[in-house]
Amino acid sequence: MNNRLYGNLIFELSKEGRKGYSLPKNNYGSYEIPASMQRAEEAQLPECDELTVVRHYTNLSNNNFGVDTGFYPLGSCTMKYNPKINEEMAALPQFQNLHPEQPMDTVKGALALVSLLEKSLCELTGLAHFTFKPYAGAHGELTGLMTIDNYHRQRGDIQRKKVIVPDSAHGTNPASAAVCGLEIIEVKSTSQGIVDLVDLERIVEQEGPNIAAMMMTNPNTLGLFETSIPEIAKLIHNCGGLMYYDGANLNPMLGASRPGDMGFDVMHINLHKTFSTPHGGGGPGAGPVGVREGLQDYFPFVSPYHGNFGVMMRAYAYILSLGREHIKEVGPLAVLNANYIKECLKDVYELPIDTICCHEFVFDGLKDKTTVSTDCPTVSTDCPTVSTDCPTVSTDCPTGVTTMDVAKRLLDYGYHAPTIYFPLLFHESLMIEPTENESKETLDGFIDVMRKIAEEAKTDPEMVKSAPHNTPIGRVDDVLAAKHPVVTYRQLKNEIM
Ligand SMILES: *Cc1c(COP(=O)(O)O)cnc(C)c1O
Repeated sequence: MNNRLYGNLIFELSKEGRKGYSLPKNNYGSYEIPASMQRAEEAQLPECDELTVVRHYTNLSNNNFGVDTGFYPLGSCTMKYNPKINEEMAALPQFQNLHPEQPMDTVKGALALVSLLEKSLCELTGLAHFTFKPYAGAHGELTGLMTIDNYHRQRGDIQRKKVIVPDSAHGTNPASAAVCGLEIIEVKSTSQGIVDLVDLERIVEQEGPNIAAMMMTNPNTLGLFETSIPEIAKLIHNCGGLMYYDGANLNPMLGASRPGDMGFDVMHINLHKTFSTPHGGGGPGAGPVGVREGLQDYFPFVSPYHGNFGVMMRAYAYILSLGREHIKEVGPLAVLNANYIKECLKDVYELPIDTICCHEFVFDGLKDKTTVSTDCPTVSTDCPTVSTDCPTVSTDCPTGVTTMDVAKRLLDYGYHAPTIYFPLLFHESLMIEPTENESKETLDGFIDVMRKIAEEAKTDPEMVKSAPHNTPIGRVDDVLAAKHPVVTYRQLKNEIM
């Protein structure tokens, strides 16, 4: 960054008496704020001129990586192109300026949009009704599980408090079940990465009358299509449980198959992922929950009004702009792009499950790991969660290039890193989802760089291990950052400076 001011905190740019505002003439006189309401100490605010403020924040914003600045192959999180027409639609003043307490006959357009979006989602998923109240995927999971819990309780089936969750599941699945007051039973995956039917049969035999639901992601979190859904649904339904579908990343399914037809009873969709709302940094989101006919009577109250309306507007704009014809291409293209990258890289990255994947797939680090495993046998077995629990990996393993190092080196080449160290099934997980929107040239560029990094890992491992070198900030101590976040200027001054 060539700006001289770059890297300073706004507080450090402060000069006493500088200001970047002018207030209008006071026509109302002045009144003393009661002493009880006054600060004991003056607020410590930066004093800067307008241009300094504008440049400071503009430069900071340039340090962001986003879908609009580069390829963002984050697995299990569908970070896709967000068509700009969506933003135009969501910004229409007729929608943007609505107030939820407006008289009903003035919001008919908005209600029509809710209803049309519901109809589209029903058609795409094969379910009968949707509620739009949940604000995110995890909130949708909780809403769906509460729906299931209400259903069982109102039928007097009060002992059904257990939820079966595959060991490959997204972390929010067990977390949502726990928040809902349900108990989690983990079902194993086979060596092929899908639900182990033998283990599931054992669980159902032992716990049948206590099973509230089974939660599944399909394609699962390894990007693999669960081939035994009809058998699994039959097992669960026969013991009185319901089937829950985590549809956070529904893109590989669009136009290919429908959860409702597979035997799922309840699902959520992440509109912000599958139906394109920019959501880097944690929001905004919408996690509508769909159910089969009859279950809508058990929807809980989880938020007022109709959830995150702006996200719903973008989702509907996305659906309409693709139309009935082109929405069918989403799934096949997402699957094609992921398989293309996988096949072009699997000779240099370890592919633990070598089969056709859906929208995403998982490498287990570099293929040539000889240096890692001989010099540092403890890295992979003892430290599945490198970033939080195992700060010493890179220093203890001077020669082994890890998934973390590959991810950091990608930043030097202008790519966002894939998801790393998730799922926990492999020690060096590197999970890639290109999405359906990326051009072949973009995919080829990414493949070239990934191959280059694999080569660098052999010829100059130290350089890869100390990456990134070209970013404004080098490798951060993410353990320190997570355990001792410094979020105020004063704290920063006292603790570090
Ligand atoms: C992203 C994701 C979630 C959680 O969604 P949020 O909107 O982040 O709460 C749940 N399940 C899967 C499979 C996901 O990818």
